[in-house]
Amino acid sequence: MSKTVEEINRKIEDGTVRVVSADRMPEIVEELGAERAAAEVDVVTTGTFGAMCSSGAWLNFGHPEPPMRMTRVWLNDVEAYAGVAAVDAYLGATQNSETLGMEYGGAHVIEDLLHGRPVALRAVAYGTDCYPRQELLTEVTLADLNQAVLSNPRNAYQSYNAAANSGERVMYTYMGKLLPRCGNVTFSGAGELSPLQNDPELETIGVGTRILLGGGSGFIIGPGTQFLPERRFATLMVHGDLKGMSPEFLRAAAIPGYGVSLHVGMGVPIPMLHAGIARRTAIRDRDIETRIVDYSLPSSQRPVLGRCHFQQLKSGKVMIRGREVPASPLSSFCMARRIARVLKERIEQGLFFLTAPAARLPAQGAANPLAVKPPRPGLFYRRAAAAPVRRGERIAWQADRCLSCGQCLGICPTGVFRRDNEWRITADTQNCSGCGVCDRVCPVGAIAGGNHER
Ligand code: SF4
Ligand code: SF4
Repeated sequence: MSKTVEEINRKIEDGTVRVVSADRMPEIVEELGAERAAAEVDVVTTGTFGAMCSSGAWLNFGHPEPPMRMTRVWLNDVEAYAGVAAVDAYLGATQNSETLGMEYGGAHVIEDLLHGRPVALRAVAYGTDCYPRQELLTEVTLADLNQAVLSNPRNAYQSYNAAANSGERVMYTYMGKLLPRCGNVTFSGAGELSPLQNDPELETIGVGTRILLGGGSGFIIGPGTQFLPERRFATLMVHGDLKGMSPEFLRAAAIPGYGVSLHVGMGVPIPMLHAGIARRTAIRDRDIETRIVDYSLPSSQRPVLGRCHFQQLKSGKVMIRGREVPASPLSSFCMARRIARVLKERIEQGLFFLTAPAARLPAQGAANPLAVKPPRPGLFYRRAAAAPVRRGERIAWQADRCLSCGQCLGICPTGVFRRDNEWRITADTQNCSGCGVCDRVCPVGAIAGGNHER
């Protein structure tokens, strides 16, 4: 038998949908078999809650009076990237405060906003005729912002290496504190509750999948960066309205000796379309293997100390070279379980409907190391600036530079610039009177001062 997402949504609407969290599927499939489990269950909910450094938020502040093209922006002394439109900025979760260093960062600003706390907004600009303001200092809350969109380039790793340290000194890493001589092992991920472990073929999780993100509604917008599904290292790029999220499910963290990160809570529903999906969602912790990698080497090519599965990791002990070593997680299993349950409740209450992917995620990706090499001389290509258009000179026009944007059409009093039916622009420079009005009009330097005196 098979079902469609539309059929499942009709069951959500009429209150007959049957939802279970992913950690219950192994026993259900064992008891009923995959075919019957697929008939009995309509949706499996997954959940994960861990430090996801590749996170951040797009913020729109609105224009102050007079208006401003913010060229640099700080929120509580944490710089946000402002190389976009006038009053938009991207606040990266891991950006450190300029005054508090790694104790406070972008993730903390996001959490403060979610708590409704006011945040200091400072901006500078060079000032233009349309955006004359050059400085700004004010405070804003989440409610004051026009838009606040959590936009995370790489979340929800399908699997991740466990970490140990065979060296002689304590190490402080994004995998937490690693004791010398393999004194401990840390690991990340939600195991059998992990979204991408429950859909390893990426059959139902795709572009446009509606998810529970930070306790609010979000969407998968594509493969995450360093997406590598062929080696079971898929990742997700996600986005959602920050204003609908909760500080319970988005928590800032200052990882000692490493820096700031954001714990992101994400729940992904898996529609039970057929028995194959039932079989895959019956994955257990003991089926999920990972490598224990040695972080003592200052290299991206770290040696592997051993292999283990999530059941061993969750038991609190793993073996490295014949020795028992304590293991502890960086992700919260109780929060992952809570997220899967919250998503289950919302679906059962008719508050959350499923979406079929608008497109499948690709079957292959890339996570290659960066080849570091000296740049060749002359690599920074700069196009020669166009000569200014001076009064009394006929212009020169470079067709190969022209974008056909049309800005020059309304400028020239003698109709030098013309368009055809396709809005392609041409210039008949013979008609130029040399008035000079088109100086500094063309954004790509197609109009330049000529050499011919009139
Ligand atoms: S302004 Fe420049 S780019 Fe635009 S149509 Fe005129 S010549 Fe072309
Ligand atoms: S210099 Fe004057 S006449 Fe010549 S193209 Fe420019 S605007 Fe037209």
